[in-house]
Amino acid sequence: MSPIAFIGLGHMGGPMAANLVKAGHNVRGFDLTAASLELARENGISTVASVAEAVSGAGIVITMLPAGAHVLSVWQELVAIVPSGTLLIDCSTIDMDSARKAHALAETHGCPALDAPVSGGTGGATAGTLTFMVGGDAAVFAGAKTVFEAMGKKIIHCGGASAGQAAKICNNMILGISMIAVGEAFVLGEQLGLTHQALFDVASVSSGQCWSLTTYCPVPGPVPGSPANRDYEPGFAAALMLKDLKLSQAAATDAGAMTPLGATAAALYQRFADEGFGGKDFSAIINMLRGETGTR
Ligand code: NAD
Repeated sequence: MSPIAFIGLGHMGGPMAANLVKAGHNVRGFDLTAASLELARENGISTVASVAEAVSGAGIVITMLPAGAHVLSVWQELVAIVPSGTLLIDCSTIDMDSARKAHALAETHGCPALDAPVSGGTGGATAGTLTFMVGGDAAVFAGAKTVFEAMGKKIIHCGGASAGQAAKICNNMILGISMIAVGEAFVLGEQLGLTHQALFDVASVSSGQCWSLTTYCPVPGPVPGSPANRDYEPGFAAALMLKDLKLSQAAATDAGAMTPLGATAAALYQRFADEGFGGKDFSAIINMLRGETGTR
């Protein structure tokens, strides 16, 4: 089995690459930071000093990088080196325009490509339970499925090139909006004298039911595993939610789609980040809605 090159061994990429090793793959990893490389080595990844070394002889190249500009820069470098036919997979969350450009770059060099952003956070990356939302040719997807299965639990083919990014962006827009909706309901309930538990007991079995309430409840108590019970340590940081909401708004502008609640959610997360809470879990936005974080 030819090695898999893994570029970007951060909070997500590091544990994802480690799960590929656990599944029996020979993984060659590269990152710009020494700390990520060291941790990767401890997890059985063969680390190298450049993109060129990582991709040499690899049948599959996976990137897990901060944003579209990083992905395009790395893909530009690697398509010039890898033989045609090398499978390129980007798991980063990036803007639609960069995702389309990455696919075009791969096609020009005769490389099959998939965009495969994930949800499930660092916990899912470590446990190997990520959801992959995959865009690209159906046959290419079918051939790569076992690779995704080593890192995730739900692997969904969303359509052609960049459909995975589209699904990720739309899903996280729902998540950002619904977390604010749930936060507003708890804040109003407090003002009306309702206990958190009473509102949870009703809404979790009624039409207000949603993931932001039942799995990720933004007040401590009703869902013991939610970040609200540990001072809103992430989890999924508010800065990352803001990033994804901005991607949704850029996509909506380009596509001419009307997303007024997405725009409002982006503005509220921007304010929360500006107030210095970007490192807190995104569910902590309830504290801003309560007027506890800054000036209202
Ligand atoms: P991170 O910052 O921890 O990791 C990114 C890594 O890429 C860093 O280690 C950085 O050194 C490396 N890097 C940057 N440029 C590079 C280059 N040119 N060559 C090699 N390495 C390079 O970020 P993360 O949390 O792992 O997130 C990665 C991606 O996954 C992002 O697109 C993010 O939006 C997405 N994502 C993150 C989460 C999460 O909970 N952290 C959840 C879902 C999706």
